[in-house]
Amino acid sequence: IGASIGCARYVEAGTTAAQLVERADFALYEAKAHHRGTWVMFAHEHETRMRLQGAIEHALRHADLAAELSLVFQPMVDVGQQRTVAFEALARWHSPELGLVSPDRFIPVAERVGLINELTQILMAKALHAMAAWPAHVGLSFNLSMADITAPEAVGRLCALIEASGVDPSRLQLEATETAMIDDFAQAQAGLARLKALGVSLSLDDFGTGYSSLAYVHRLPVDKLKIDRSFTQGLMEHDSARKIIRSILELSRSLKLDCVVEGVETHEQAALLQALGCRTMQGYLFHRPMAPEAIGPYLRREDVETSALDDTRFSRRRAQ
Ligand code: C2E
Ligand code: CA
Ligand code: CA
Repeated sequence: IGASIGCARYVEAGTTAAQLVERADFALYEAKAHHRGTWVMFAHEHETRMRLQGAIEHALRHADLAAELSLVFQPMVDVGQQRTVAFEALARWHSPELGLVSPDRFIPVAERVGLINELTQILMAKALHAMAAWPAHVGLSFNLSMADITAPEAVGRLCALIEASGVDPSRLQLEATETAMIDDFAQAQAGLARLKALGVSLSLDDFGTGYSSLAYVHRLPVDKLKIDRSFTQGLMEHDSARKIIRSILELSRSLKLDCVVEGVETHEQAALLQALGCRTMQGYLFHRPMAPEAIGPYLRREDVETSALDDTRFSRRRAQ
């Protein structure tokens, strides 16, 4: 059994019971998010963050989510063939009150206040809709939160959405982080088994950043590892990042899992990763996340470029 604790001290953190409980609760969430297994005392710097999260919570509760939420898509590229094999759907929220809010900010709040299942439903419907316009060889990767996997009704609704869409489930990958599964492993396992039974595949996101990565690879029906971008960022400077990436690539090969490296920003990183045996990459080097309307032109451009490349290879071979 592990425990995380949040505390608030009388006078400094508040003068009424309600204020103190609210601040202790906020400190508890801070502990769970950043200092698991320890205790956090509500401090002055938490006040600003709590206000901001309060504003996000208020706006989320009053939002017309179907209208204000949208998705952008980032290509995952097979560097050997120089082809996009899938797009990862990334949520965007345009709040009339707060402007553009990043998912790093609003997803955790939606999780905390119990709105995440509703958000995920809306986003999944939009993603499946966008995907209908893509060629059949292009897949979709979609991020799930813990509560999407552990609540049986939410899993049921997701399964129904996927089935009703008519999209071939083998084109669909679901991404979950390992931290998302720590709290309720048995429920997560059951939820993932139901989703996988549809024929979708499962990627372990931000791989290498949690503290029990290997246990999850072993006990979950995982198909793909996504190596976290913190390793890619350290790739050129730190020998350790290189060694970690090489080990994860070896691990994925011996377990017969696919592997994607995230956050590739430079040609040097891509070349080094390719030399290490990495095939699928994602990052600003290939493309930033784009609006659904941009995908058609992007894929057509890629088609032209790849066939030009094939022609050059062909004529070079003929010349030899
Ligand atoms: P993630 O799943 O790890 O997504 C990758 C993040 O890295 C995205 O940020 C993407 O824009 C960014 N990124 C991609 N390539 C590069 C690069 O080359 N360099 C750098 N520096 N960054 C790169 P974004 O869109 O802000 O999303 C942040 C996080 O929010 C995601 O991290 C994911 O955990 C969460 N998220 C986004 N959309 C959803 C969603 O629909 N549902 C859920 N549950 N979470 C989501
Ligand atoms: Ca992801
Ligand atoms: Ca990631």
